[in-house]
Amino acid sequence: MIVQFIEIPAEGLQVQLTDTSWFPLADIPVSGEVQGTLFLERDVGRVLAHGTIQYLQSLQCDRCLENFNQDRDVEFQVVLEYIPGVERPLEVSAEQEFDPTEEEVEYLSEPAIDVSNILRQQVFLSQPFKALCREDCLGLCLQCGKNKNFGDCGCDNAPSDSPFQDLGRLFKSK
Ligand SMILES: [Zn+2]
Ligand SMILES: [Zn+2]
Repeated sequence: MIVQFIEIPAEGLQVQLTDTSWFPLADIPVSGEVQGTLFLERDVGRVLAHGTIQYLQSLQCDRCLENFNQDRDVEFQVVLEYIPGVERPLEVSAEQEFDPTEEEVEYLSEPAIDVSNILRQQVFLSQPFKALCREDCLGLCLQCGKNKNFGDCGCDNAPSDSPFQDLGRLFKSK
């Protein structure tokens, strides 16, 4: 969905996306509905875009490999600046680096906003570095491979709170 700068009235424009057509489902599986809301406010050659994205993400735990769902409630704010003839159009990239101390400014080569693109980018930026089914997930037994969240397997393991637990798994997986 494209919104031209001139289509944004003085009081701002609210855009609501209730379908999943814009969502990067191939990269980020979800279960259930996706909600994306975007407010656009215009200021001469710039537009302030802020909004929220809500979805239930389907993940696999990095530690115990169980599948689980996690609620995501993303709030974001981006400044979109139109610079005639700017080389680089707005692009979505999963590997994009994000510095939260910097104001996020996107430069547009045309005075038009690709709403789906903005939202998609925010979804990527809000991905967690680590997927854990719960903070204190016990993970898998290094010896028998059983999920220790479901009870003790009886193997003679080091205590689960050992700082070397993750290290041991690293060596094991090689
Ligand atoms: Zn887990
Ligand atoms: Zn075991």
